[in-house]
Amino acid sequence: MIVNAHVHFGEPWGPPVHIDVHYTADELLRDMDRDGVDMSVIIPFIFNYDNEYMANVAKKHPDRIIAYAMMNPWRHKNRKDDIKRYVDMGIKGLKLRSPSEGFCLNDYLILDDVYEACIENDIPLMVHTGDDVLSTPLQCEEMIQKFPQITMILAHAGFRALADEAIRVAKRNKQVILDQTAATSQQLRDAIREIDVERIIWGSDSPYMDERVELEKIRVGVEEPEVRRKILGENILRILKIWK
Ligand SMILES: [Zn+2]
Repeated sequence: MIVNAHVHFGEPWGPPVHIDVHYTADELLRDMDRDGVDMSVIIPFIFNYDNEYMANVAKKHPDRIIAYAMMNPWRHKNRKDDIKRYVDMGIKGLKLRSPSEGFCLNDYLILDDVYEACIENDIPLMVHTGDDVLSTPLQCEEMIQKFPQITMILAHAGFRALADEAIRVAKRNKQVILDQTAATSQQLRDAIREIDVERIIWGSDSPYMDERVELEKIRVGVEEPEVRRKILGENILRILKIWK
């Protein structure tokens, strides 16, 4: 079972960035069939957070597509109610991308509600991490100390500059999952050596990255078949409680 835990998704939309980016159900399912991927976790494109649309796509393809919601916490008055509504629609996780929206991952004034709602609704919180001051693994750790029941997926596992910090935080906190999407092969090797492999997941960042390339990174980089199976799908299914 191969599950891509990090795919961006949506219809074409307007400026200011990524003007021509799109990844629709037809395009995604075509690529999944080509690459032998059984299921994908879809995440809205940045600034285009139509979470109802995401949930409906997942509802239409329940065996293939799992949907996460995104939100800009500055723009929600009732963050808890809104997250509950997303979960009621079928959303399985929440992603924050703090550098785009001008907050830190430990910005408790706007994020306490978000962390609490993820715990109350039993969904993981996925956060962009790495290479800027607004999305550091140490900020995640500060919030984990406040909300120890949270499950946090560190997208890109700290990218380049903060890769070691992400591993240290994951070593100290069992709630942390390292998402190897667009990370280096060295990050993958370090994570396998330093933390339990049940907390390492794979994604492709499609359509920005090519799924075939990211898949090959894991196939080449993980020798043990059992570990490879976990990273390529079993772990995320267990984390999302979809595993049967
Ligand atoms: Zn991404």
